Parts: sequence; C-alpha cells; structure tokens
Amino acid sequence: SAVEAITSWSNLGRRAPKSVTPVCQLFGINVFSDDVMRARLPENVYKTLRATVQKGAPLDPSIADVVATAMKEWAMERGATHYTHWFQPMTGLTAEKHDSFLSPTEAGTAVAEFSGKELVRGEPDASSFPSGGIRSTFEARGYTAWDPTSPAFILDNPNGTTLCIPTAFCSWTGEALDKKTPLLRSVEALSHQAVRILKLFGSTAERVSTTAGPEQEYFLIDKNFYYARPDLINAGRTLFGAKPPKGQEMEDHYFGSIPERVLACMLETETELYKLGVPVKTRHNEVSPAQYEIAPVFESANVATDHNMLVMESLKRIADRYGLQALLHEKPFAGVNGSGKHVNWSMSDDLGNNLLRPGDTPHDNAQFLIFLAAVIRAVSRHGDLLRVAVAHAGNDHRLGANEAPPAIISIFLGDMLEDIVEQIEKGGAKSAKSGGELKIGVSVLPTLPRDPGDRNRTSPFAFTGNKFEFRACGSAQSIAGPIVVLNSIVAESLDYMATQLEQAVAPGKDLNAEIQKLLQSVIKESRWIVFNGDNYSEAWHAEAEKRGLPNRRSTIDSLPDLVSPKAVELFTKYKIFTERELHSRYEIFLEGYRKTIAIESQLTLQMASRMILPAALRYQSVIASAVANLKAAGATVPKHQTALLNEIVHAIDELQSASDRLSDVIDEHPKGDSLDHAKHSRDVVIPAMNAVRAAGDILETLVASDLWPLPTYQEMLFIK
Ligand code: ADP
Ligand code: MG
Repeated sequence: SAVEAITSWSNLGRRAPKSVTPVCQLFGINVFSDDVMRARLPENVYKTLRATVQKGAPLDPSIADVVATAMKEWAMERGATHYTHWFQPMTGLTAEKHDSFLSPTEAGTAVAEFSGKELVRGEPDASSFPSGGIRSTFEARGYTAWDPTSPAFILDNPNGTTLCIPTAFCSWTGEALDKKTPLLRSVEALSHQAVRILKLFGSTAERVSTTAGPEQEYFLIDKNFYYARPDLINAGRTLFGAKPPKGQEMEDHYFGSIPERVLACMLETETELYKLGVPVKTRHNEVSPAQYEIAPVFESANVATDHNMLVMESLKRIADRYGLQALLHEKPFAGVNGSGKHVNWSMSDDLGNNLLRPGDTPHDNAQFLIFLAAVIRAVSRHGDLLRVAVAHAGNDHRLGANEAPPAIISIFLGDMLEDIVEQIEKGGAKSAKSGGELKIGVSVLPTLPRDPGDRNRTSPFAFTGNKFEFRACGSAQSIAGPIVVLNSIVAESLDYMATQLEQAVAPGKDLNAEIQKLLQSVIKESRWIVFNGDNYSEAWHAEAEKRGLPNRRSTIDSLPDLVSPKAVELFTKYKIFTERELHSRYEIFLEGYRKTIAIESQLTLQMASRMILPAALRYQSVIASAVANLKAAGATVPKHQTALLNEIVHAIDELQSASDRLSDVIDEHPKGDSLDHAKHSRDVVIPAMNAVRAAGDILETLVASDLWPLPTYQEMLFIK
C-alpha cells in the first residue's frame, strides 16, 4: 500500500505554490529586520539598538518596552497570536514555549500585551533540559535572554503563527545551558584578538566577526516507508536492512536531475526560508540515492547558526507536506554515503574585508599570512578539540569510513600555499609557484594568486581560496560547537602572535622584519598539521602516526580531550567556558552517547523479536509444511528444499542467540563513572547490536518478500 500511495502521489495535487511574488520581494518578509526596525522604532531607540547589534554595545534596558511594542504590533499584523523565546539547549535542537499576547483585563475583556520585560527575559524551567550536573547542585530555574544580534522572526505555519525571539539560555547562576552563549562569547574573544593584529597593520577596524556557511546534506524518503520503520522514527537511522542490489555504485545520483516531487518540496522549503531571511542558494542531488544538499550564502556565525537550525527544521516540516520524510541523521542507511555538513568559516572585519582573502599587495599579504598562520598554529595545537566538536554517536558511522574525512585532523592548503609556507619556513617567501604574478616589495612577500587551486575532498579542514572548510561535521549537529572551537583556538593563536609583534615593535623594531621572523617560527612549529595528499589512504594513517597526530577513532576516544588541562586552560582563559561548564558539557555528551546506544539497542531487540522473528517463523513453517507435504505425498524431498529449511532454521537460531546476548549486555550495569558506562556501550553493546543486525539482514535475503515486515533499502531509496 505504501508503493501504491506513492505511485498515486501526483494525483494529490500538491505542487509547490508558484509564487506570484518575485523571490527577492519575499526575502525576509517574516523577519523583524533592520529595515523594519528603522521604519517602526523612534530614531533614538533604533540607533541604540543598532549599536548593540553592530558594535556589541551592552543592551540598554530602557529601550526594551518600545522595541517590544513595535515587535508585537508588527507580529500581530502578520497574524501572530503567540510569542516565544527561541533557544538552543544542549539537546542539540531548538526549544520554544509559546505564550499568547492575550492579557485579561479586570473588566472581563482582554488586550494584547508584550512588555519589554517579556522580550528581554524568560524563565523556562531548566530542570528538564540536559545540564550535565550543573542543575543538581544549583537552582533548577533557568532563564532565557534576548539576543538582539539575531533578528526576531515569525514562524508562519498554516496552523498557527508565532513570533520567535532568539535567546540565550543560562542557569540562574549564569552558567551557559545552551549552544548560543558560548558561541557569542567565542565571537567576542576572536574579535578582540583579531583587532589587535589589524591595528598593527594600521587598520581602523573595531570589530571582527566570524562568518559561516554550512552546506547541509539530508535524505528524503517517502513517509509511507518511514512510518513502517520504527528504527527511522525513533533512532533516525535504519538498524536493519540488507544491502540492495543497486546502491550508489553507478554514481548516477550525484548532481543528477532532481525528481519532481523532491523539487517541489525543495522549492517550498526555500520559499519558506527566504521569508525567514535565510539566504539559501544552492541545491543538488548528493552521492547517495535519495540524498540531497542545500547551502546558503554565508552570514555572521551567530545568525548562520540560528539559520541552520531553521533550515533543518524547515526541511523536516515542509517535507511532510509532500508526503516525504527528511532524514538528517549522519548515517540513515548502511552501505551508502551518510550525511555531513561542511562548515565554511572565515573572519571578516567591520570594514567588510575577509581576513582570509589573499591580498593584492605585499602589505595585505603579510596580514593575510598572519591570519593564515594563526589558523594553522591553532589547528596544530588543538586538532583534538576540533575532533571533539564533531564527536557524537551518529558521526562515528562516517568519520574514517572513506566517505568522510578520517578522525585524524589535518589541514589542506593546496600546492600554491603549501609552497609559500615551505618557503616561509626556510626564511621568507620570495615567489609564488603558480598562477599569480610575482610582486616582491616592501615585505619580500609575493602576491598570491586568488585561485583556490586544486580541490581535495578528503581533507577534514581545507583552505578553499578565502575561507576554511571544516568537513568533519555531522549533518544533524548544530554548527555552534565547531564554530566555538574554531573561534577559541584561533583567538589564542592571534593573541600569541599579536603579543609577539606588539612587544617587538614597541621598542621600534621593523614590523615587516618581525613578521617574517614570527611567521617562520609559527610555521616551523605547526607544519606537521599540513597534509595535502589523500586523507582516505592507508599511507596517511601511517604517516599521521609517525607525525604523532592524534587519531581519536570514536566519540569515546575523543570526548576526554574536552576536559584535558590544555582545553580547560584555553577555554577559561578566553572566558568561553568556565571549568564547570566544560565538565557539564563533557557529561552531557557522554550521556548523550550512552542514551543513543541504549535506544538503538532496545529498538534492535524489539524489531528483532516482534517483527523479524515472527516473519521468519512464518516463512519457516511455509517451507517446513512444503517439505512435510512432499513427504506425506510419498515424493522425495529435493535436497535444495531441505537445505533451505536448514538454512532458515539456522538463521533464526542466530537471530535469537544474538538477541539473547544483546538483551544480557543491555542489562549489565558496568561499574565506574560515565566514561566507563559509555565505553561499555561502545565496546560491548554496539558489537552485540551489530550481531543481531547481521542475523536479521541474512534473514531478509531468505524470507519471502510478501512476509517481510519492513520496507527494504531498495524500496526506501529508489521508489520516489
Ligand atoms: P562546495 O564546492 O564546497 O560544495 P558551495 O559553493 O556549495 O561549495 O559552498 C560554499 C559555501 O561557503 C557557501 O555556503 C558559501 O556561502 C560559503 N562561503 C563563501 N565565502 C565564505 C566566507 N568568507 N566565510 C564563510 N563562508 C563562506
Ligand atoms: Mg563543501
């Protein structure tokens, strides 16, 4: 019936609404944008707010009432009935608690109300969000605080319209319980250090912002299949499923033409995102069958993070309107590529200059090389932290599996930059290898060609022309964590380099000569992190080991690095995390891992015993009675039929013994702390779960198709 529903889909009449309004006019209509504020706020209030948004000036509480009223009026004109503080707790999702604008009067009527106090602060109960221990020793209450640097917006659903106010979420004692707070702190830290460098070069820039552009991969499958798969519903990935005869080996899906229904769904998703001011730009088929990508134009990191959350939510919400289910998990289907999220990252000053853009003059290039060297130094010192930032159960299926970068963090620079870096290491670069014209002037640094050069798809962290692309992120995760780490580690290196240069030029030494010296020493120290070859190859694993680069294969190997003395020193020094916050996150991540595996293993057991086993037993009876009938009729039973019966009996036995074993290990309560518990999940539960799956997948290849209770990979991936 699922297949029948799909073949008749075109009759449902669902087509993406052909918009009569040109997309440019739709853009941002549901956003309380700068333009709206300018039009609706008194000039002095507008200016005060703008100073907060653009210069990071502390928020003036006296303007809150005026802003709140304007926001309410604007939202109600657009049909909003409720407002919510919209925040990002450590669940990795967004959270909202709607309050109506309605306020009863004594006269028995009601008015619409929304005060400055309600705009600025909310008090959701923090006790039901992950806090990693912060909660138990302190107050259960938490509060949300308005983040004016990310604009409020309206979620306009057919069934309700809500004003959403992006907020940070903290405990009553001021400790971060969310993803946004440390992100904002890290943006500040990076800005402060980067401005010091810019000053040395005579720049008047006052702030530096981090820019981010996340490329989001996802799967779309028909909802009818989805509902028939408890594993997809509850774990986001298939826990059973034999390899289909055709997977991605024909390489016919990547950049292929987009199926009609999917295209309609994409179009409506994009339209909704445009209205929310999310500048989505690119869409295409990805490598796996039924896999796609959506990518925006980059924005400031904080807004890009909020927008990526909206992208993920919109994909899920709107797919439903087309009878589709969006799967954001890193590995919904074994045996075909999983989904990642390339986070493109750079820094940009408030005069609009991208600081990772190679310059036109030797002077600009010296500045560029300082920022480049800072990133290289940062990653060479704290690659382990970048690894932690992408460590979670879902991503363990991808990293190192020849579809995503390995768990070894290294940097790809490309031939041209690699050559420059090599020359700097030897004492000053004098020539650019390819492309660009040579300009050796004041600072003996060459003009760099702007061409990003060759591409290396296998590197976890690649320089791509004017930005770095962090490719190890998982598709379902918030990009906040990876950006927090990048900002923090780069801030530290910029701090170091600024200090060196400031100290040198104070007594009047020549800046250019000092830059040369500093670059040389930084590059010398950090070169080991640069690798331009094939990161998927065995040779690289061997080479990386020789270099002593950490290779944290699984989440559990990686997570302890989050609370190493080195990490604590870094994050506390730049006030990104307190030590307690860091430890709380470590606990949350460990627990998240353990709970994920617990859910998956319970589901595996349940599906094995309640879906696969009954089907297999039915089929066993079919064969057994066929054999018995032959015998009763006095015919010889052909050896193939006896063999088939034996095979199925054996496979069922395998399934049951593996299930028994899984059930036993689920019930084991390992001694020790949360790390030991998580290790038990990885080392004992996962292998036991995999054994049940293996037995189930063998049965799938044996049991009659009309008896098989689950949609197969072939159906889910190819029937569109
Ligand atoms: P790819 O070839 O990696 O698939 P795409 O064009 O799909 O490249 O994506 C590149 C992403 O990088 C886009 O989201 C783009 O906006 C982003 N990007 C470009 N410049 C910057 C920058 N300076 N800072 C951050 N992101 C950037
Ligand atoms: Mg990319």
